[in-house]
Amino acid sequence: MAFGNRKIPIHSCSNLYNTALQRDFRIYNTLSRSVESILPIKEGHLSFYSCGPTVYSYAHIGNFRSFVTADLILRTAKAVGWKVTYATNITDVGHLTVDDFSDSSGEDKMAKALRSKEGEAFANVWDLARYYSGKLIEDWQILNLLEPTVRPRATEHMREQIAAVQSLLDKGHAYETSQGVYFSVTSFPSYGQLSGNTLDNELEQTVRNVVVDTEKRDPRDFALWKKDDKHLMQWFSPWGWGFPGWHIECSAMAMAYLGDEIDLHAGGEDLIFPHHECEIAQSESLTGKPFAKYWVHTRFLQVEGEKMSKSLGNFYTVRDLVAPTSEGGKEIDPLAVRMTLLSGHYRKPFNFTIKTLKGNVKHRERLAEIVSVVGYSDSANRIYEGDFGHALQATYHRALDAMTDDLNTPTALVALFGGTKMILSKLANLTATEQEAIRSWLADMNELLGVIQVSGKSATVEDNRSDSSLGVKVEALLVERQQARVDKNWGRADEIRKALTDLGVEVMDTPEGAKWKKIGSL
Ligand code: AMP
Ligand code: ZN
Repeated sequence: MAFGNRKIPIHSCSNLYNTALQRDFRIYNTLSRSVESILPIKEGHLSFYSCGPTVYSYAHIGNFRSFVTADLILRTAKAVGWKVTYATNITDVGHLTVDDFSDSSGEDKMAKALRSKEGEAFANVWDLARYYSGKLIEDWQILNLLEPTVRPRATEHMREQIAAVQSLLDKGHAYETSQGVYFSVTSFPSYGQLSGNTLDNELEQTVRNVVVDTEKRDPRDFALWKKDDKHLMQWFSPWGWGFPGWHIECSAMAMAYLGDEIDLHAGGEDLIFPHHECEIAQSESLTGKPFAKYWVHTRFLQVEGEKMSKSLGNFYTVRDLVAPTSEGGKEIDPLAVRMTLLSGHYRKPFNFTIKTLKGNVKHRERLAEIVSVVGYSDSANRIYEGDFGHALQATYHRALDAMTDDLNTPTALVALFGGTKMILSKLANLTATEQEAIRSWLADMNELLGVIQVSGKSATVEDNRSDSSLGVKVEALLVERQQARVDKNWGRADEIRKALTDLGVEVMDTPEGAKWKKIGSL
């Protein structure tokens, strides 16, 4: 059995791997451009920041691909026995529509969303931010992402951001113009170390067309503070009314919660430049210390081989995928969505297809069948005994080996499917010891990959059956209700409507017949 670089024999004793042995956790570091063993600054305690979403709309499955990578880092770090302090923010101000240059420009995404058709439902931009933050957390939970230690919001950390900008001015890394305060890129000689965007000409070329403030000393300089007394979200600062630049929020919040030096910083590949490059420049100029040791970036998700976009009709939010509809749409198990996201390695571009999703619905049904026989508990005692137990535990170790080897999720899933097959082959005929081993395996695998049961939820045989058969129940009740109406049995029709409400389902009578959806879904 490989433990990172070491070879250690499989041992029959339970919990051996969680306690006595230090396991290597290796990950690709964008900064060093190589796979490295993670060595936390504080031994056995990982400090970790992951860039969260801009809450101007529902997060899409591409966003969630990046959040799932962060979740897997958290789970794998815990599985090797580390403590983790994990901060992931909510961006609710300052992220502008043109964000791929060092100095973002355009309109604030939040303000633009308020002016859109969807925005009409909200009284103001704060209302809109609150609504989509709530929806983010709902999706986060149904995809079984673990709660972060802290989820700070940019608008609630204005004091820290203003203090950081002032300090950069005091240290000579920033300057003020009539439009804002800018970070001076030439004051930080290693600017470009993360992205490789070090060639002055190349950088100047890319930004020349978008420079809006002619007082800027260098076109590459980026805004730390934008002066704007018309902005929908504005604060008073030493430089007048305005709002912070997008990059400074993550530096300020990461340092507020995790300290000057953190172990690991993550996000999607689009954040390498400019967002993370600028975060490094600001943070290291403030402290004179290295900001983050390891930088992890997730490649973009595409759908059916194309860039996800609303106009192509291939733009999916989590709720689009999982909400049951009556138009031929069965509810999709959210953990099948999660499993699909795990089926590609985070460092390779990922093609999300409905075919893969349906394949994973089948895998999930097999796991649910196992749970329906033996039950599930996060806190099951981990006891693997006998040949069967040891063979099952070995599949967990293979999954953990894969995850500690640069989050190799496809290999970890192969190990999960191997264990599933072993269990199914004897599901009808299990001894008590074997059932105990299976419960241990379900809990271990779930802790690592999160694809078996939403954490904190224990399941009995009945829970599982009723969860996965909601669609069937609803359809049966609707047929019965239709019959009751034909029979003019209004009492029975009302009873059925109440039964549907109790199932958490809302029914709409339309000219095409009754349609239904889960209450709270789209
Ligand atoms: P945003 O809401 O645009 O600030 O993005 C939140 C996170 O999702 C960032 O880490 C982005 O890099 C990431 N992200 C955005 N689109 C995708 C995509 N298609 N695939 C993977 N990650 C993405
Ligand atoms: Zn960020």
